[in-house]
Amino acid sequence: MFIERINNATGDREWVVADENYDLAQEIARSGFADMILDTERNQLYENGLQSVIAEKHSNGEEANVVDIGTGTGLLSLMAARAGADHVTAIEVFKPMADIARKILKSSEYAEKIDLITTRSTDINENAVSVKGNIIVAEVFDTELIGEGALRTFKEAHDTLVGDGTRVVPSSGNIYILPVQSDLLKKFSKTPSTSLKSPFEDCPGNASVFDVQLSEVDKADVKPLCEPFLAFSFNFEDGDSIIYDETFVREAVATSSGSIDAILMWWDIDMDGTGAHIINMAPKWIYPESQWRDHWMQAVYYLPEDMHVSAGERIRLQCCHDEFSLWFKWAGASEEKHNCTCETHVVCARNSLYRMNELDANEQMTKVIEKECSGKDIVAINEGSLIGLTAASYAKSVTIVDSNPHFRQILEKYRNHNSLNNVKIVAEIEKIVTIPEMIVGEPFYLSSMLPWNNLRFWYDSIAICKRFSTPIQILPKRFILYAIPLDFEHLWKIASPVGTVEGFNLSIFDNVCQTARFATDAIVEPQPLWEYPSVCTGKTVELVEFDLNEEIPENDITFDACIDFSPSTNAVAVWCDWEFSDYTMKTGLLEACPTRSQPLWNKGYRQGVYFLPEAKRLDEECNKVFLQATFHEKNGEISFHFTY
Ligand code: SAH
Repeated sequence: MFIERINNATGDREWVVADENYDLAQEIARSGFADMILDTERNQLYENGLQSVIAEKHSNGEEANVVDIGTGTGLLSLMAARAGADHVTAIEVFKPMADIARKILKSSEYAEKIDLITTRSTDINENAVSVKGNIIVAEVFDTELIGEGALRTFKEAHDTLVGDGTRVVPSSGNIYILPVQSDLLKKFSKTPSTSLKSPFEDCPGNASVFDVQLSEVDKADVKPLCEPFLAFSFNFEDGDSIIYDETFVREAVATSSGSIDAILMWWDIDMDGTGAHIINMAPKWIYPESQWRDHWMQAVYYLPEDMHVSAGERIRLQCCHDEFSLWFKWAGASEEKHNCTCETHVVCARNSLYRMNELDANEQMTKVIEKECSGKDIVAINEGSLIGLTAASYAKSVTIVDSNPHFRQILEKYRNHNSLNNVKIVAEIEKIVTIPEMIVGEPFYLSSMLPWNNLRFWYDSIAICKRFSTPIQILPKRFILYAIPLDFEHLWKIASPVGTVEGFNLSIFDNVCQTARFATDAIVEPQPLWEYPSVCTGKTVELVEFDLNEEIPENDITFDACIDFSPSTNAVAVWCDWEFSDYTMKTGLLEACPTRSQPLWNKGYRQGVYFLPEAKRLDEECNKVFLQATFHEKNGEISFHFTY
């Protein structure tokens, strides 16, 4: 099979041939499925719900025939069988997952009772199901509750897979919202307007969901403006009541005055309709018993306009959903989903907006730019950065090279709005006319997944130097790659083997995931580490340093490090810093982190994280890991290899 990869030296998309099985295994390994399977509260509440409705069917003298939609590893089907179901039909659309489920179910003591169908439940023909069900169990929810198509899944299941009087686990779901004032959350949505003036103050922004671990947002950073209130309610047991497009106006009385900078959202589901078994997704500062999980988070939405409320005033919000998403507006506005008109919210991810806002308000960085760029002809080369415009206030001339056509338009509007008449914006290095004295970058490229992918700046800068034969200074001057060992309170679960879960042996699933995870090149995956509580368990280790004013090495270079740590380490984080003259742009740790203290991470970037294999995580004697990393000059990639 072919898969798409970004060449981090050129930004080009390339198709590479990959082994089908290896790649699907990688996909499953990276999907964070393990954290869902290890979500004990979820598992037990599903089992409680199943026990309750199966017992109810039996006490009515009926058989209990369960349809498990989206069986994954088969876990809920096994629970249903154990709870006494007479027959279970398991359905799974994702073939590699269904193949795993087939093996797990076959080797279980309930093999005889459970059939598996590999397809999407909504594609099943009524006659394909051997036993019509009277119980549906489905865990097809995401952070937005309905984003994985739960509404159609339930509605159509009532029509084709089950008969009248069917019980559903969960029976219902509610979605709650809480308008808040928050300078922090605003930075993930507003276009920069501190030192530059934003031409896009009127842009309604993007209606789409922003998934966040709200429990990790400091309570001081969000000021609730009222009590949380209900936005939507879904009865999964009544297919006819499920409507794909709905709008409601909901009201609450403001308990504080402030601007509605963001709408926080979470949901709960009632497993059997009794109110006794509820999964509640409220953040922990609202619901202290809330359990950590990464497969569901809380969500943030933004209203299309700035709104201010005074204490005692009624907050009236229009709450809308379609088949897959939710959005919120001020009551009286049109029902249509608002769309970004300025392109910034389309081109830039939420954390990129945060990064741009931070840069625009960063006085230290502005001072460096002033000192280094004053009176010079500058080239700013990035993809999705405003740093060239910051430089324009001091430079003689700035040529901004940005390969993204949408972002070039954004830059033009910012340039014109700020009357920066010394700025030229071009698509490629070949279009630079004025010979620069200096090249600047954040560095940042929209195509980068991990902070060090921005080394593309080095390739671009050297290419510019080669085009002109005069010496050109490159800023930042230095790239430094770092690693630090960590003890995450929870995040390690996304990579952990699951073993035996609620008494069921799921090691067949582990075999696939763990083989993929610990292949030759380790998975160092991007994660927004500020959202995950951890303490560091050893010193920060410098892995490699590149002088960006020197040529790129002609061959791959390999560098080694030994990372010492105290036991109970479960991960190693990797990020890079970019040294300017008197300032360091940090994409990871923002300040030194003494051992056993909580690291402070840059919220504008995802850092790289590698999880230790379980045997090492649990080994009391394991107190170091050897890291061998290779910089591949052909594509600017850095690969990692960990040994013990
Ligand atoms: N039931 C498992 C897995 C839940 S994850 C457990 O609780 O552990 C959701 C799974 O449902 C995914 O594997 C996804 O591929 C599958 N899925 C989602 N919607 C589906 C549908 N309509 N038909 C079949 N599978 C579906």
